[in-house]
Amino acid sequence: MFCGCKAGFGHEPNTNVCPVCLGLPGALPVLNRFAIEQTILTGLMIGCHSPEISKWDRKNYFYPDMPKNFQLSQFDLPLCLEGGIPLYDIAYHKDAQKNIPNPGKVVRLNRIHLEEDVAKSTHLSNSSIVDFNRAGTPLMEIVTEPDIDCAEEAYAYLKSLQQILIYAGVSNADMEKGEMRCDVNISVRPHGTSELNTKLEIKNLNSISAVRRSIVYEIQRQCEEYDAGKEQVQATLRWDDALGETSIMRVKENSADYRYFPEPDLLPIRTAPIVEKMKSQLPELPHDKRRRFETTYGVSSYDAGVLTSELDLAAYFEEAATGSKAGKKVANWVINTLLGKLNETFLTIAESPVSPQSLRELVELIEAGTISNNQAKEVFSALWETPDITPAQQAKAMGFEPADNSAIESIIDEVIAANPDKVAEIQGGNPKMANWLTGQVMKASKGKANPKMVTDSISAKLGL
Ligand SMILES: [Zn+2]
Repeated sequence: MFCGCKAGFGHEPNTNVCPVCLGLPGALPVLNRFAIEQTILTGLMIGCHSPEISKWDRKNYFYPDMPKNFQLSQFDLPLCLEGGIPLYDIAYHKDAQKNIPNPGKVVRLNRIHLEEDVAKSTHLSNSSIVDFNRAGTPLMEIVTEPDIDCAEEAYAYLKSLQQILIYAGVSNADMEKGEMRCDVNISVRPHGTSELNTKLEIKNLNSISAVRRSIVYEIQRQCEEYDAGKEQVQATLRWDDALGETSIMRVKENSADYRYFPEPDLLPIRTAPIVEKMKSQLPELPHDKRRRFETTYGVSSYDAGVLTSELDLAAYFEEAATGSKAGKKVANWVINTLLGKLNETFLTIAESPVSPQSLRELVELIEAGTISNNQAKEVFSALWETPDITPAQQAKAMGFEPADNSAIESIIDEVIAANPDKVAEIQGGNPKMANWLTGQVMKASKGKANPKMVTDSISAKLGL
């Protein structure tokens, strides 16, 4: 944030360091313009506004992860204020999607400020070690209002936020790689009251699922203790993912006094020019893309949610659907067949052997009546193995050529002529028997006929 050291994950400890991020005396900070721009961009994506002037403050505290004894942060004039994160239906955990507590909810934000990350401390049995590689990395702290009512909403909040950050190109926001971290504050209150009880903070959460599980556990624990007449003490808790329980890390006697004061070595920022610049770079938001998919391609709201849940997936679908007259059908293929196959083979959408163009062509073959839906599934499986040929070539190689229509027509005529009793049944008011005739035609054509064409032709011939 304030020096030129390399940022990254998994480097040799204490190798990406300099006098600034080590906090050596006399070192002076220099602002990272890109980090400021990305923070403003994030704020714009979620409806924040920026104060005219944003400034830097020293947050004073004494701990080995910050040798200069203060962290450069923002106190009263952060880069972004207010705004909110919409909780997307698709962002809820699978188990909660059928019963979303507050559909369409938006979690209000308090602020987004930028600060420098501190070193990573690891506590061993009788010593502690510190790695300064992480110190000085820009850290965007996003603070919500106490709007999240349950574990499911916290999960959906993080998933939605993650999606927005990925759409903005700001971060991959992968908690397991430390690209996103989350501290959860939990307090409970008796039904029907508005004042919250003592707040406890859980740290060391390294996945969105861990956040969800820890909240379920902690709400239960706090409620049971209140019911047993035991008051809560304000504390920081540690989550043990293997045990599935929280334990007290340290008790906060009173809220820490960080004695914030303005950083004398950095000038305040006039935000208007940066806001203007970033407005021109604002990408389409997930929910705007979802609405556009619904109107442009005629897909259902749920399917649009699935297709826009990942930026790469949305791009794949759009490439496949562009120029196709059957966007909805392309969407069905992506969701039902492609995603299933990717899941099965542990591949990402970017690694899909079947390209968007191939998928579009495949759907076109079905639409044109060249191959049936079932034949298309076989072609798809074959394309997965040998992606460098076109669906049309593959269909031909598999013998799925469109049968000669006149030959099929004469088979239909023969089948009708050979089964006067069935025809009488159909005309006597049992149209279902037409399926039996279709079956006979399919058999006689050795599966080469298109079942839909056959059914249509039989219906026409029998005047149904
Ligand atoms: Zn440095």
